[in-house]
Amino acid sequence: MTMTVIQFMKRFPNDDACLEHLMAQRYGFRRTCEGCGRPSIFHRVRTRKVYNCQWCGHQISPCVGTPMENSRTPLVSWFYAMYLFTASRHGVAARELQRQLGVTYKCAWRMAHKIREYMAKVDGDGMLDGHVELDEAYIGGRKRGGKAKGLTGRGADKAIVFGMVERGGEAITRVVEGAGRRDLLPHVRAHVAPGTHISTDEWMPYRALPRMGYSHGTVEHRSKQYVSGRDHVNSIEAFWLILKRSIRGTHVWVSRKHLSSYLGEFEFRWNRRKAPERMLADLLAFRT
Ligand SMILES: [Zn+2]
Repeated sequence: MTMTVIQFMKRFPNDDACLEHLMAQRYGFRRTCEGCGRPSIFHRVRTRKVYNCQWCGHQISPCVGTPMENSRTPLVSWFYAMYLFTASRHGVAARELQRQLGVTYKCAWRMAHKIREYMAKVDGDGMLDGHVELDEAYIGGRKRGGKAKGLTGRGADKAIVFGMVERGGEAITRVVEGAGRRDLLPHVRAHVAPGTHISTDEWMPYRALPRMGYSHGTVEHRSKQYVSGRDHVNSIEAFWLILKRSIRGTHVWVSRKHLSSYLGEFEFRWNRRKAPERMLADLLAFRT
């Protein structure tokens, strides 16, 4: 279960509680000091968002590398914004943050953008294996149409997104320039383990997969075939469906420029869908 608002307020009543949580989760109070090399206990420096080594005064600032770094917005507001991002199923629009936090639209927009980028970073991209489905989707833009693959004219306003989904596992997406072999296959090589079984539709570039060391099965969507033995692309189509619904429902539309950070946010949520209570904890504990 994810935290309720009441639980959240109890857990993070003020900036001191937030900072202490970040320090505990990202560094720990008892640690070997990077400054003097001695086992040490770190204490909060009053009036500043830093902790000091008990021996040498070496300082750790728990916000470094998070969206809160160098921000004048209270930590509580950041924490609450991140809470909203992880508690909602479809993401949070800047207008909503503005309303709930009482900040300007500009500030809300910037916070939302930073949180999305952070979610993408925390999620990262691993290696998929087992049984993987590949597909492309056309997302965003103001114009309709442009369903043909690799279109540059009519559907040029839409962005092409390439998706790789492991059945029962994680999803990885990329905004790509086109839907040709050179646009798609390098991502497969980078993110799908050799020997993996891959299901796709009949789109030409995928025919090269066996030569790349994958086992490959197709469904002929053109001939209205949607399942062939173990081959189908239902998982990735479910992924696209929720993604498009989220974008439409929350943001109406998303510019091509910002699409990859929305995708990162969406992947973060999708990849933790079986353990939603981990979402906020993962965000607050992450350290590179
Ligand atoms: Zn020290």
